[in-house]
Amino acid sequence: MDKRGTLVVISGFSGVGKGTVSKALVEKYGYRLSISATTRKPREGEVDGKDYFFKTENEFLSLVDYNGYIEYAQYVGNYYGTPRKFVEDSLAEGQVVILEIEVQGAMKIREQYPDAVLLFITASSAEVLKNRLAGRGTEEPEVIEKRMKRAAQEAESIPVYDYVVNNEEGRLEECMAQIHSIIESEGCRIARRKEFIENLKNGLKEFEN
Ligand code: 5GP
Repeated sequence: MDKRGTLVVISGFSGVGKGTVSKALVEKYGYRLSISATTRKPREGEVDGKDYFFKTENEFLSLVDYNGYIEYAQYVGNYYGTPRKFVEDSLAEGQVVILEIEVQGAMKIREQYPDAVLLFITASSAEVLKNRLAGRGTEEPEVIEKRMKRAAQEAESIPVYDYVVNNEEGRLEECMAQIHSIIESEGCRIARRKEFIENLKNGLKEFEN
């Protein structure tokens, strides 16, 4: 693969396990996971600098002024943003970098990084998705309804993504293997291998005559 790495965006409906998939991909394949900044309050068990960089609105917005995010968006009343430095440095090192972000952010990444790979993770049907949300047992019925409504809106954006991948209950390995093979294949694209092809051509020149 050429030196520049691969930027991979993972989005998906609430309850579909995209966080689990992203973390497992990092563990298994050594990909890097970008840690976002947010103005949302930490949930129980969440650690600053590990799950998110938790910020006040002022702190968040001052980094916006310094062009410190490659994208940011508002989601359910809070800001979320992808810090620029980690992503740019990792790409320059030739790494695969995963951003687990929502659809507005994914659209902004598409504009700025046309060669980013956009993946949408889903369950096999609306019913399966609803059962999964209900199965967590932690959400009130109104919250589940809200998330399903949001899923219906988010589904409108799926055609902008490059790939849609199912993550069925108990089939994490399958989902990960699919994503891994997508990333590997993307790395072989001619457009990504320009430097390699140039070097190859130069090496072959001496045999021309
Ligand atoms: P949660 O509050 O449940 O952790 O995340 C809410 C939503 O924000 C999820 O869909 C998550 O993927 C998205 N998100 C997390 N970090 C970022 C980010 O840096 N940028 C954008 N645009 N969305 C993010």
